[in-house]
Amino acid sequence: MLKAVLLFFNFASLFIHLKKKIMKQTMPINGKFSLAELPYAPDALEPVINAETINYHYGKHLQAYVNNLNALLPGSPFENLSLEEIVRKSNGAIFNNAGQILNHNLYFSQFAAPKENNTPSGRLETAIKQQYGSFNAFREAFENKGSTLFGSGWVWLSRDQAGTLKITQEHNAENPLKKGLTPLLTFDVWEHAYYLDYQNRRAAYLAELWKIIDWEVIEQRY
Ligand code: MN
Repeated sequence: MLKAVLLFFNFASLFIHLKKKIMKQTMPINGKFSLAELPYAPDALEPVINAETINYHYGKHLQAYVNNLNALLPGSPFENLSLEEIVRKSNGAIFNNAGQILNHNLYFSQFAAPKENNTPSGRLETAIKQQYGSFNAFREAFENKGSTLFGSGWVWLSRDQAGTLKITQEHNAENPLKKGLTPLLTFDVWEHAYYLDYQNRRAAYLAELWKIIDWEVIEQRY
């Protein structure tokens, strides 16, 4: 009897493990998307991003995009596509919600607890220094693109097929993969991303975000 119970729990935990593994990818589950898991506790990024912002931004805004997309997909030509394919091929409401899910998945999964003097290493560090002169010069260029984006959108660091780095401003739900680029790093400059913590001070939010970038994640994307 005990053996049977243990066997059941082994299978149950294997099933949960597989399900988590599937959820980490951005593929539909039974044609539906789920909220990607956060790789840290909601208060882990404080004081750069407070738990209240995570609760609204991740818990309410991102959840709403997931719910909207799940409601829009059935019967559409995009029903069985991966999230990236939907972003590449759709437009209108389906694109807006799919783009925002992809953008937020890349945004929330690139953070870790704050660190001072937090900079990249390895091949990415070399590429940044070659192209921008120094990490600080890159940082300044990136923050400037974020500060000067009018309205809602995202500032991105991407690489092209030759490995050249590009900083781009994308409006609303746009993602650089639609330009054939591979997205590496992104700062969300929609007001919902920073208003609770920084109010109208977008530049201050952009300057603080460097403390919580998990450069290992960015280097893996590169
Ligand atoms: Mn957002």
